[in-house]
Amino acid sequence: MPIDATQPYDDANVFARILRGELPCTRIYEDEHVLAFHDINPQAPTHILVIPKGRYVSWDDFSARATDAEIAGFVRAVGHVAREQGLVAPGYRLLTNVGQHGHQEVPHLHVHLFGGRPLGTMLAS
Ligand code: 5GP
Repeated sequence: MPIDATQPYDDANVFARILRGELPCTRIYEDEHVLAFHDINPQAPTHILVIPKGRYVSWDDFSARATDAEIAGFVRAVGHVAREQGLVAPGYRLLTNVGQHGHQEVPHLHVHLFGGRPLGTMLAS
């Protein structure tokens, strides 16, 4: 079920539990601000989730409340992971779902990083 992007942060969400080490993940990259790991249900040969370590429900929440250091760290980490995974030359796609119409299911900001094959047009009909 998609979430309401205006809801308060829920510390029981699955990515909060991964950040606390309560649930496993296949870690790709981690620094002060960011964790990146493989999606559990990949939609492409490469499907990575990049999340901030801070308590942000969505892109809306993050863009409104995160510090400049958190925002810069997050953006740079997404680019770093894509480079490290060899995705720049073949190309890749970033996607962030927000709220009901965006079909966001996990209420902790995450950027999907897809690659490894031609990804087709931007949106399924
Ligand atoms: P959303 O629809 O919120 O943009 O995407 C949520 C993503 O989180 C989905 O692609 C889903 O497969 C992934 N996901 C949900 N639970 C877990 C989990 O426990 N571990 C990992 N690695 N990915 C998860």
